Amino acid sequence: MMPFIDTHCHMDTYAEKSGEAFESWWANVLPHPEAIVQVACEIENFEYAQNLTGRYKEVYAAYGIHPEVAVSYCEAVEEKLKKALAHPKAVALGEIGLDYHYEGATHQKQMEVFARQLDLGIALKKPIVLHLREADDDALQVLSQAKIGKVKIHVHSFSANPDFAEKLLSLPSHTFIGFTGIVTFKNAQNVRDSASIVPLDRLLLETDAPYLAPVPFRGKPSHAGMIPKIAETLAQVKGVTLDSLMLAARQNTKICYGI
Ligand SMILES: [Zn+2]
Repeated sequence: MMPFIDTHCHMDTYAEKSGEAFESWWANVLPHPEAIVQVACEIENFEYAQNLTGRYKEVYAAYGIHPEVAVSYCEAVEEKLKKALAHPKAVALGEIGLDYHYEGATHQKQMEVFARQLDLGIALKKPIVLHLREADDDALQVLSQAKIGKVKIHVHSFSANPDFAEKLLSLPSHTFIGFTGIVTFKNAQNVRDSASIVPLDRLLLETDAPYLAPVPFRGKPSHAGMIPKIAETLAQVKGVTLDSLMLAARQNTKICYGI
């Protein structure tokens, strides 16, 4: 098995859903990931991620305010976010973006908070993790108005059509597209079509644990040990071997996250 990294997971939520503590999961999971990126989406989750990165050399973290909790964004939160991002194992800002499926905040508020955090990531020269759901046009508007330059972007858990992937890839940023278990779902042909047009050097592997477990694990809490199943489907879609797909994703992780 080629070495692999889960570039996006929420292991605090995994522990809640599965009833399995991180320590025991990490000790037993097979195949074993080389490393993981724990994503903290709101202030309440920051401490868990900080604790985990302190205890495990293979755990890295991303910190950001998720669009569903955009209303919580204020100067005090931004200060805490900056502080968290100053840690050497804070490898990215995110997930940030727009989610018009759950509508946890108005579109206008989400766009404001997205733009503000985007600027922060650009200023700090951090890779930025995007959560974009059912908000293609507004997302492209915010991204095109920011001075994104060559910033590294990980569009996480891509679930849209190929034309949106194409538009994201044609931004001036160094954009990577992350695929989760969704790519294995029977009804997700549009996501496989999107994967087929994403160049091999722009793909990332992620679980979004504990959500979106790939076939044949649907209904179970997902975790990094399921990454090879996602990679198998992607390899088929791309017409390459599993090893070369995993190697490409591993190299892309190095380029995007520096790990
Ligand atoms: Zn996530």
